[in-house]
Amino acid sequence: MTAILGHFINGQSVADNARTQDVYNPSTGAVSKQVALASKATVEEAIAAAQAAFPAWRNEPVIKRARVMFKFKELLEANRDHICKLIGEEHGKILHDAAGELQRGIENVEYACAAPEFLKGEYSKNVGPGIDSWSEFQPLGVVAGITPFNFPAMVPLWMFPMAIVCGNCFVLKPSERNPSASLYLAELLKQAGLPDGVFNVVNGDKEAVDTLLTDPRVQAVSFVGSTPIARYIYATATANGKRCQALGGAKNHAIVMPDADLDNVVNSLLGAAFGSSGERCMALSVAVAVGDEIADRLVAQIGAAAAKLKVGAYSNTDNDFGPVITAAHKAKVEGYIQSAEEQGATIVVDGRGLKPEGYENGFFVGATLIDRVTPDMVSYQEEIFGPVLQVVRVQTMHEAMELINNHLYGNGTCIYTRDGEAARYFSDHIQVGMVGINIPLPVPVSYHSFGGWKQSLFGDLYAYGPDGARFYTRRKTITQRWPTSEVREGAQFSMPTLG
Ligand code: NAD
Repeated sequence: MTAILGHFINGQSVADNARTQDVYNPSTGAVSKQVALASKATVEEAIAAAQAAFPAWRNEPVIKRARVMFKFKELLEANRDHICKLIGEEHGKILHDAAGELQRGIENVEYACAAPEFLKGEYSKNVGPGIDSWSEFQPLGVVAGITPFNFPAMVPLWMFPMAIVCGNCFVLKPSERNPSASLYLAELLKQAGLPDGVFNVVNGDKEAVDTLLTDPRVQAVSFVGSTPIARYIYATATANGKRCQALGGAKNHAIVMPDADLDNVVNSLLGAAFGSSGERCMALSVAVAVGDEIADRLVAQIGAAAAKLKVGAYSNTDNDFGPVITAAHKAKVEGYIQSAEEQGATIVVDGRGLKPEGYENGFFVGATLIDRVTPDMVSYQEEIFGPVLQVVRVQTMHEAMELINNHLYGNGTCIYTRDGEAARYFSDHIQVGMVGINIPLPVPVSYHSFGGWKQSLFGDLYAYGPDGARFYTRRKTITQRWPTSEVREGAQFSMPTLG
């Protein structure tokens, strides 16, 4: 009998086990736990707990809310190994990669600690005779987060520390494939002194998500996941009058210019393409080589290195990357490799059918390099989300940029070059939200904000950083006069101006 993971509502573990789903250890392929799938009533209980906690929490002085974040950061650091193990067991990423994910998440908590500074607002004295005006940033109320499997700790940490420190109460619906990290974060927040009801976790599927999207008490929804679901979330949440930011999928290209430092390119592309089994929304999955000379050398060098990468269980830190998330996803990734082959691409290194010794039932796909990919191929058009790097050959930088600008997705991109003029032109004109110059994974740090263009983001504000603070607050502008005994104005019927 495997354990059933429930929910965390109003500071307590709550069971609602009428429907459950298997949680796998992707390294072994075995079912390790069950997760409860919340009913509408359980999600409503979480929303009600958040609603009840809101009046007191919004009135807490911001420095006190920030102190909870300081303590939470200490607890995250003290329990780093345990959190990484939970991530590794249910996601499959190697422990060193889980530690990197957690560190990026902690940096969002650090930024949230600065709330007393970024919530100060704006003030103008004497905007008219004896009139002062200021803008303040008020919390929204109950807000929800719906998160993907690929960063079980980091993506929730993009959302709730900022939302909570701004004075909101939060309901998180993590991925049902790896729910343990979120439940543990909820316990740490309680230990950090967060009042019950301010942060709640409901595990579940579409039923839970649809309840969050339609309940009138939920004011805003942050979503990170695949593009078809992001589109649905944005349409449904906004049709129900909610503020929404929905981050979707990606296809991130790296342009390799003929003058690039190839050793640097090879090393950084290996990590960016295959790290975390390519299951990162910022993974570099397409290398666009400008000219056949650099293309031939790139394919030869990456091919030789990719074939030697160590793939295996999350717990062996000598491994470069681990399994993909499920057996179904392994089949999907291998299907894309097959379709590229059938459509005429060259499979240089083939990761299909990999069975590491001792982990033969794990969901492994080895590093795969595919050359001579063209834009009409399905494997080029769609997000693979696996350890697959495809090479497209073009003759000019403009051709490479046109390829990227015409792609459905616009999350991340990068150029490798020694030419400052080319790099500047690229960063200015490319239709992508996050751009690297000789940087393969240009994931913004916590004090900037994260988001893509085109089908990679539905909504106006990016995640975390300054945009996160704006997303989770509502501006209110107050204009004030205390009439003095000397100045008494008569009725005025024209628009007030300072003549
Ligand atoms: P997913 O879209 O399948 O699931 C994301 C969330 O949506 C989960 O919590 C899931 O329970 C819920 N969900 C799934 N189907 C639903 C439905 N029909 N109705 C309502 N809710 C539903 O994504 P995933 O497979 O967990 O994550 C991988 C995807 O996330 C990739 O496409 C990746 O690019 C993307 N991603 C994007 C970013 C970004 O910042 N742009 C970051 C990480 C991951």
